Amino acid sequence: MELKDKVIVITGGGRGLGRAMALELAEKGAKLALADLDQEGLDETVGLCMEFGVEARGYIANVSDEDSVVKLFNDVASDFGALHGLVNNAGITRDGLFIKVKDGEVVSKMSLDNWNLVMDVNLTGTFLCGREAAIKMIELGNPGCIINISSISRHGNMGQTNYTATKAGVEAMAVTWAKELARYGIRAASIAPGYIGTEMVLSMKPEALEKIASGIPAKRLGKPQEIANTVAFIMENDYVNGRCIEVDGALRI
Ligand code: NAD
Repeated sequence: MELKDKVIVITGGGRGLGRAMALELAEKGAKLALADLDQEGLDETVGLCMEFGVEARGYIANVSDEDSVVKLFNDVASDFGALHGLVNNAGITRDGLFIKVKDGEVVSKMSLDNWNLVMDVNLTGTFLCGREAAIKMIELGNPGCIINISSISRHGNMGQTNYTATKAGVEAMAVTWAKELARYGIRAASIAPGYIGTEMVLSMKPEALEKIASGIPAKRLGKPQEIANTVAFIMENDYVNGRCIEVDGALRI
């Protein structure tokens, strides 16, 4: 798919990886519809995209709320009259050990609230946005591409029972959609980033970050631009479908 003038929705486009993706696609001439909870972040990303001379709009939307997601895609359809791509990027973490034991006694456990919060945003949000995007692509007659942002954590990671379950889930959903939606000309794929230098990761303790970086064969964190390049690669290559691309500096090898 040639990206010039194509309409792409990016959730969580207000900062971090979502912003880097938006700028990469704007540079290639795409029109951007950015969804986030953070108005200030959205305004900033929209302004940066428009510097490339493309149309860009921000939408306040909560991906975990069905009414909000339906409204988002209705608004995008009426504002742009087309939809060619979606990046399901909005995501959160609420890390904590599954159970914590001290002197033979269980002293804490992952709360159901923290389980549900992460499920709602990462998994239900991806489900809702993927569904509404596919509907709009079919109604508007645009073949398109959906990318779910997974994580290397999808294979399991200490302290991330909730997050890892959602990231395995969004990869599996992309495979299912690739199989179900190919008949309508819609592709779906996922990207599993390693540790990338965004607020989500840089908010960790410096000692923890140093330990992580030293354990990566590349000996550094990834750059948001490296994930943005991968989004563009998948969008532009019509024969990439159903696969998960790992971008992790060889961390998982
Ligand atoms: P980030 O926290 O910097 O940005 C996430 C954005 O999503 C924020 O702008 C936030 O406001 C928005 N958001 C959160 N909840 C939302 C909701 N309910 N509705 C709409 N928007 C919402 O995170 P990031 O590092 O840019 O990560 C982006 C994605 O990449 C996430 O799915 C994350 O799990 C995934 N990921 C990140 C890394 C990394 O190292 N940074 C690694 C693997 C996967």
